[in-house]
Amino acid sequence: MEDCIFCKIADGAIPCKKAYEDSDSLAFFDINPQAPVHILVIPKIHIPSLNALDEGNIKLVSHLLMVAKDLAREHGLSKNGYRIVVNTGDAAGQTVHHIHVHLLGGRNMGWPPG
Ligand code: AMP
Ligand code: ZN
Repeated sequence: MEDCIFCKIADGAIPCKKAYEDSDSLAFFDINPQAPVHILVIPKIHIPSLNALDEGNIKLVSHLLMVAKDLAREHGLSKNGYRIVVNTGDAAGQTVHHIHVHLLGGRNMGWPPG
């Protein structure tokens, strides 16, 4: 996707502070962190949102969650807890239309989220 900022980050055309990378996924620190640890995990292929997923994406989406879980452990969040968020659509506040998993931790979270 030509105009997608996360595709450009995945391509290396826009820099990021990388937290993890493999052939299918990339994780990088959010530019506007909402918690002491705020990492985004994305697929390298362009998928606009959860709404666009189909059965063929099951392995990839599972992989994104595994990466988030491993990063949580790596950043010392596993014991106290952390939050995984996938904003989907306008009402949820999705601003980048390339599916991404937010990993947030390092502080106590409120519920319900705003
Ligand atoms: P969402 O609102 O769920 O679509 O989340 C998009 C997230 O991407 C926000 O938390 C932004 O701060 C973050 N973001 C946007 N541009 C960049 C960038 N160039 N590098 C890192 N994070 C970004
Ligand atoms: Zn994209």
